[in-house]
Amino acid sequence: MPVKQVARSRPEVRGLGMTSQRARDRLIERLQGEGIRDRRVLDTLRQLPRHLFIDEALASRAYEDTALPIGRGQTISQPYVVARMTEVLIEHALPARVLEIGTGSGYQCAVLATLVEQVYTVERIDELLRNARRRFRKLGLDNIRSRHDDGRLGWPEEAPFDAIMVTAAGTDLENTLLDQLAPGGVLVAPVGPPGRQELLRVRSTDQGWQREILAAVSFVPLLGGVV
Ligand code: SAH
Repeated sequence: MPVKQVARSRPEVRGLGMTSQRARDRLIERLQGEGIRDRRVLDTLRQLPRHLFIDEALASRAYEDTALPIGRGQTISQPYVVARMTEVLIEHALPARVLEIGTGSGYQCAVLATLVEQVYTVERIDELLRNARRRFRKLGLDNIRSRHDDGRLGWPEEAPFDAIMVTAAGTDLENTLLDQLAPGGVLVAPVGPPGRQELLRVRSTDQGWQREILAAVSFVPLLGGVV
């Protein structure tokens, strides 16, 4: 299945120099070298303008494989991590409805929105959520619903989801989220204290929850309350 294309008529979406298509192509080569294999994931990272998800002052670094600050003490995840988490989320089956916790810049959400039918995303910092929504509109991504709330609660009114991706690290995996997974669904989340976080994949099977540890990772913390 081909990935959904974003609106590219505006010059700032296409980019120039350090934000050009060539810069994106080089990032994709690097991700392939690091083991990212899923064609759909590579195709969508190749087309998405990551430079529009960060402050203009940092735009020249958008296609380095590194996390970058997005304000309010938060970061846009490293492209490799975005690619890998997306890959493991869609590996066994392409989910139709996906819940993301931690909208942040909106980049991971945009990646998901080009691959699946409908994305739901929750962010606790209102200012970040507003910026992300502007980016979704600019790119013509109209299959994203977003909510300003504590994502540890999930989005019960819209549950169950075929897949859930958490992009901030809790000390434990919340049952509240697992309970919002559809049968056969998959959840990917970083879990653990700073310095000892692991990326987990949990699959809901006929025999119960199947947990796998995928990698050591470093994410900002999953915090309570909204601001
Ligand atoms: N997916 C984002 C990553 C942003 S970093 C991106 O691609 O840019 C993680 C985000 O999770 C931050 O924006 C942080 O504010 C948010 N977050 C932390 N705890 C949260 C919670 N309980 N509910 C919702 N969002 C939360």
